[in-house]
Amino acid sequence: MLTGIRIVFLGGDARQIEVIRKCVEMDATVSAAGFEKWESRIPGVILEPLSEELLAGADVLVLPTVGCDQEGNINALYAKDRLKLEEEHVAALPPNAAVYTGLAKSYLRDLCAKYSLKLVELLDRDDVAILNSIPTAEGALVMAIQNTDFTIHGSTSIVLGMGRTGFTMARALQGLGSSVKVGVRKQEHFARAEEMRWRPFMTGELLQQVGDVDLIFNTIPSMVITAQVLTRIPRHCVIIDLASAPGGVDFRYAEKRGIKAMLAPGLPGIVAPKSAGIIMGNALVQSISEEIIIRGD
Ligand code: NAP
Repeated sequence: MLTGIRIVFLGGDARQIEVIRKCVEMDATVSAAGFEKWESRIPGVILEPLSEELLAGADVLVLPTVGCDQEGNINALYAKDRLKLEEEHVAALPPNAAVYTGLAKSYLRDLCAKYSLKLVELLDRDDVAILNSIPTAEGALVMAIQNTDFTIHGSTSIVLGMGRTGFTMARALQGLGSSVKVGVRKQEHFARAEEMRWRPFMTGELLQQVGDVDLIFNTIPSMVITAQVLTRIPRHCVIIDLASAPGGVDFRYAEKRGIKAMLAPGLPGIVAPKSAGIIMGNALVQSISEEIIIRGD
């Protein structure tokens, strides 16, 4: 339980509603700024404007999945006005307060470091990234279905990278009847892919692997689908780049060649905000509880 823990939420989208719900359920004292347009409020949540006073009383500050941009602007779907995290807000937090977000940019990292505040990036956790890969793969399949005139069943697909997202993606494609090739760079991943009855290859051989492909899902966050690779890809192939911006595809050249290629960021929040929020909420509560145990509060 989080009884007695004061949590302040700043902005967010439908995912954050689920996170707030979880914290209220766990008996935390919850305040939220940037939720003025929120229609079905959860009883027990105190809505307040963002101020130094609000943050001075927080044990925990929770920012949205993508914390804030490099100017401190916070994505706040339900806010009436722009929500901006200024240095004085961070400075007002008590010294033992913790700041939680999905992934932090250097603006937030630097401020937390300056004021010696603990910063927790929940998407860094393996368990969160693995669970998050489920709505990501489902969203990627939706995009593939919407952008093709053929079934996934019977197609040849390539998944690049066999990390948390790549593994789930490959398994989902296999389940729908696609013949799945997986591009990896480690022998142990090659072996695991064989065991899964996928068709593994080393990413260095990508050029030789794309001639018969219908769908490509990239999870490698660096340039892999170069202009040279694109010259070998059939024009009907659809490329969905799941890697974080700027992705791993030469989009300019793909467009020039007439190949549909799209960067698909933030899929969990788009296709399954409730599930994505529950994943984040559970991880947040677990992380705060661990912190309480460590500090012996
Ligand atoms: P991950 O577990 O670290 O997987 C990344 C994979 O890429 C690993 O298998 C890694 O290989 C491989 N890799 C990295 N650099 C490589 C290179 N130069 N050559 C060949 N392989 C390389 O990460 P993840 O959690 O799956 O996330 C993958 C990407 O998707 C990230 O950019 C993440 O931000 C993004 N993401 C996007 C969404 C969305 O909605 N679009 C959702 C979740 C995640 P090794 O294992 O050998 O290191």
